Amino acid sequence: MTTPSSPPPPDVVLRDARLPDGSGPVDITVDDGRITAIGTSTTATTVIDCSGDAVIPGLIEPHLHLDKALLDAEEPNPDGTLAAAIEITGRLKAAFTRESVAERAGRLLEQAVTHGTTVIRAQPDVDPIVGLTGLEAMLALRESYADLVDLQVVAFPQEGILRSPGTEDLLVEGLRAGADVVGGCSYQEATLDECREHVDRVFALAERFGVPVDIHADLADDTSDPRYALAEHIADRTRAHGMGGRVTVGHMTSLASLVPDARKRVLGELADAGVAVVVLPMTDMHLGGRNDEVNVRRGIAPVRALLDAGVRTGLSSNNVRNAFTPFGIADVLDVALFLAQTSHLAGPDDMARLVTMATDDAAAIVGRGDRHGLHVGADADLVVLAAPNATEALLARADRRYVLKRGRVVATTERTVQLHRRR
Ligand SMILES: [Zn+2]
Repeated sequence: MTTPSSPPPPDVVLRDARLPDGSGPVDITVDDGRITAIGTSTTATTVIDCSGDAVIPGLIEPHLHLDKALLDAEEPNPDGTLAAAIEITGRLKAAFTRESVAERAGRLLEQAVTHGTTVIRAQPDVDPIVGLTGLEAMLALRESYADLVDLQVVAFPQEGILRSPGTEDLLVEGLRAGADVVGGCSYQEATLDECREHVDRVFALAERFGVPVDIHADLADDTSDPRYALAEHIADRTRAHGMGGRVTVGHMTSLASLVPDARKRVLGELADAGVAVVVLPMTDMHLGGRNDEVNVRRGIAPVRALLDAGVRTGLSSNNVRNAFTPFGIADVLDVALFLAQTSHLAGPDDMARLVTMATDDAAAIVGRGDRHGLHVGADADLVVLAAPNATEALLARADRRYVLKRGRVVATTERTVQLHRRR
């Protein structure tokens, strides 16, 4: 005969928490790595006192070049252009070792986690210069940092496919080795036909390996060069391969130049085909408009128009402290604030939407769907902000008091600031 006993308490309760919009307070119960209740609670093995601060889902970096991070100490880019960035980085990566990549990437990854990032889609270069060194370093980090962050690895052909013979074989090798996503970099090809061929080969690899697509489509100021007007071709290929919801384009800054009729048509095609756009404002604005002598263009994809057209839209850091982007701290909320300031997105609804872009929308982009979010059943990837709601956190650059990955506290920040008045 067994003696009835009460079930063990849940693992964690986040007590006295507010929801991202400031409503609440509620208690968020976590058991076995997942959210099991949002409401009231009794007790738990670990109680985290949120003292009325807001909790948001874990932040996501859907587009981060971890392999090239923090290279500014080795060689900065005084010219500041995209061409110089590719040239300098091409030289530096010839000397990459798995250890050197892992050391820099690990430092940035840890920094991202302290800022509340729980999922990263990394974009290591794959080409005859660096081979699979960066990708293999990422695959190793995916295992060694699995307690802190879910890392997705893109096999990314930064130097192009047709203009860089040998790359396609390396992409195949990388996908066989376990890359999660096939990347593209169509703007590197010499002609419009070759850009289209590049896109077609990327989709063929996606179909062969059953993986999503993530293409660097362009970093151009406008579409006067037809190589930078590939949105409709990518939408068409997405439909043809039945890959709606599994295709992302990064940067695609040329979209900002489209006049209203063309914009309506092109964005409508992206929305209809299920192609997501990730904007990388810190890089895009830094590299864009370099030939404009007056009224320098901002170089950022038109976020409000994308959202209004129903295109799934995310944001990310892209590069941090290297020849492409000399700044950044791998903080998605910092990127969101920059986007608010540079894209006329500062209304109350806009601010809340920016946080959703950095969490729920990014989760859809990287294929996590319902596993992510502030709802029962989702992974307990959560961030306690030092602010009463998400908008205030964005504006005040609030600390991330607690970061939880699958219910375990993986980072904490406590800041003491004192003012010393003369009495
Ligand atoms: Zn990029």
